[in-house]
Amino acid sequence: MGLPMNASSRLKIESISAPGYEKVLYGENESSGMKAIISVHNTNLGPACGGIRLLPYKNRAEALEDVLRLSRGMSYKSSLAGIGFGGGKSVIIADPKDKSPELFRDFAEFVNCFEGSYICAKDMNIGSADLKLVKKHTKHILGIDGEPGSGGDPSPVTARGTIRALEATWEQLKGTRKLAGIKVALQGIGYVGYPVAAEIVKSGGKVWVTDTDPKALEKAKRELGATVVGLEEIYDVDCDVFSPCARGAILSSETIPRLKCKAVVGCANNQLKEVEDGWSLHRRGILYAPDYAANSGGIINVFVEYEGNYQEARALQMADHIYDTMTEIYKRSKQSGQPTFVIADVLAEERMTKRR
Ligand code: NAD
Repeated sequence: MGLPMNASSRLKIESISAPGYEKVLYGENESSGMKAIISVHNTNLGPACGGIRLLPYKNRAEALEDVLRLSRGMSYKSSLAGIGFGGGKSVIIADPKDKSPELFRDFAEFVNCFEGSYICAKDMNIGSADLKLVKKHTKHILGIDGEPGSGGDPSPVTARGTIRALEATWEQLKGTRKLAGIKVALQGIGYVGYPVAAEIVKSGGKVWVTDTDPKALEKAKRELGATVVGLEEIYDVDCDVFSPCARGAILSSETIPRLKCKAVVGCANNQLKEVEDGWSLHRRGILYAPDYAANSGGIINVFVEYEGNYQEARALQMADHIYDTMTEIYKRSKQSGQPTFVIADVLAEERMTKRR
C-alpha cells in the first residue's frame, strides 16, 4: 500500500491532515486485517479519552468522517463535565464477525503510538472480552467491567447526571428543583432510563414510558406504576418533559412539531437529527438540555477510574455538578437569546481554551 512502516511495530502508519485536530493517524496491518483511525482532537484539559467503535464502514473516508465528528464531540463533553480529559476516539474498520485476538493486539500497538495522549474505552460493537484483549498489549485503556479498579457499568452515574439536568430544567420551568408533580414521557427504559424513571416516581412525579422490549415495559408498569404508551405515541404525550433515553436523531422535523412538552431532557447521545432541529426547539420555546451536558455521567465515571482508587460515591458526587452546568447554560441562553445547544458549545470551548 506504500505506507511507511512503523519502526517499533508491525504497523503501517499514515498521518492524516485534519485542521483543528491535534493528531489523526491511520494504521493498518494486512496480515491481521487491522485497519483503524485514531483521532486526538484536543488535549488542553488532559489526555484524549474516547471509545473504540468497530463498524464495517464502506470506506476510509466514511470512517474518517465518523472518527473526526466523535472525537471532537468527546472534547466538548469532557470539557463541559469539568474533568481533566481531552477528546479522542478510534474507529476500527471491520465486520464484528471478523474480530480476532491478532486484530486487537495490533489495535493496541496502534494506541501505543500515541504514548498516552489517547486512552481508549468501550463503544459500539466492543465488549469486555475485546477490551481485555486490547489491554494485554497497552496500558492506555479504561472501563473494563469486572477488572480490579474499574469503574464498571457507568449507567448509575449517567442516570444521576440526567436527574440533575432534569432538576435544573424543572427549576427554570417551575422555580423549584423538587420533582414532585412533574410529568415525564420517557423513551427507552434501559440501563439509564429505568433508574431515571424510578427517581422521578420516587420524587412524586409521573412517567409515561415506551420501549421496544415488552419485558422492560411490564417491569416499569409493575414496579413504578408507569403508564405504557406505543413507540410513536410517546411524542404526543401531554407532559412537562420529553426524555429521550433510547437512541439518537429522534428530535427531527417530523417529531418536534408533535411534542407537547415544555422541555427535553434525556441521556441519549446525539438527540438532534440536524442542527436546524435545535433551532426549531428554540423557536417553539421548548427548553432543550444539550444531550452531551446531560449525559456526561458516563465519561465522569471513566475519569474517576483514571484518577485511581475508583469510588462510585466520588463519581456520583461529580455528576451532581451537571445541575450547575445546566443552570449556567440556561442562564446564558436567557440573557443572550441564543439556543441552549449553541451556549453549551460556547461554554465547552471557553473551558477548553482557559487551560491552554
Ligand atoms: P440500553 O440499551 O440499556 O437502553 C436503551 C433502551 O431503549 C432499551 O430498553 C431498548 O429496548 C430501548 N429502545 C431501543 N430502541 C427503541 C426505540 N426505537 N423506541 C423506544 N425504546 C427503544 O442503553 P442505555 O445504556 O440505557 O443508554 C441509553 C442511551 O443513552 C443510549 O443512546 C446511550 O448511547 C446513551 N448513553 C448511555 C450512557 C451510559 O452510561 N449507559 C452514557 C452516555 C450516553
